[in-house]
Amino acid sequence: MGKIECHCAKCVVEEKICRQEDGKGPSFCPTKKEGSTIEDVLKRYDEDGIKEFARMASVQEGACYIERDAKPFVMIPTKSRVEELIEFSKRMGYKKLGLAFCGGLMLEASILAEILEKQGFEVISVSCKVGRIPKERIGIKEEEKVQIGVFESMCNPIAQAMILNQAKTDFNILLGLCLGHDSLFLKFVDGFTTVFAVKDRVTGHNPMAALYTSQTYYQRLKKLKIGEASDESKETINKNFHLSK
Ligand code: SF4
Repeated sequence: MGKIECHCAKCVVEEKICRQEDGKGPSFCPTKKEGSTIEDVLKRYDEDGIKEFARMASVQEGACYIERDAKPFVMIPTKSRVEELIEFSKRMGYKKLGLAFCGGLMLEASILAEILEKQGFEVISVSCKVGRIPKERIGIKEEEKVQIGVFESMCNPIAQAMILNQAKTDFNILLGLCLGHDSLFLKFVDGFTTVFAVKDRVTGHNPMAALYTSQTYYQRLKKLKIGEASDESKETINKNFHLSK
């Protein structure tokens, strides 16, 4: 298999071939170059358990807008993510929902579970701290903990997945798991999962905020090597932090 050159994120073509019949694509365009993969993939949408899910996901997408037959069309979205989640779950006939949440988002999890129960669903919710296994079990050293010198339970996304698998939930919701812990949950969970929120400790769980401000207050994302700060800048950060305490 040849090297895949696919850079849709860099595509500046206005009338894109992936969006309109007589559109165009750049040299790296996968709609032009990956025809056999795209053709093969289509068969997957005919599989049991996929076909209806895929259809309903698109039905739900459309149902999130109003005035869809207006000319000229103006996009008017009307549904929040939580409404979309409820609608989609009802469309699919789901009864039992799994909620895998971060222990740091206990309040948000309780609100979401209450809303879903009021909407008629059974909710099986599991905190990431389930099991109270010490972080040392996966090789975490004292200085690698969030709070040094204190007992900390490891996040246990595999247990979250297994408990929801055993509960035979119809559909799972991921709420605020840490980066990486979310990946483990998704790797081990059996059924379909939707992401309600991802964790972003600084932006109120809205990682897009850092992208939207990357030209201004978050310009360091492009101008500094993140994770490779010099000892000097680390010291400055530490000094400022201690000063502000
Ligand atoms: S599929 Fe082709 S036209 Fe569409 S965004 Fe990607 S590169 Fe651009």
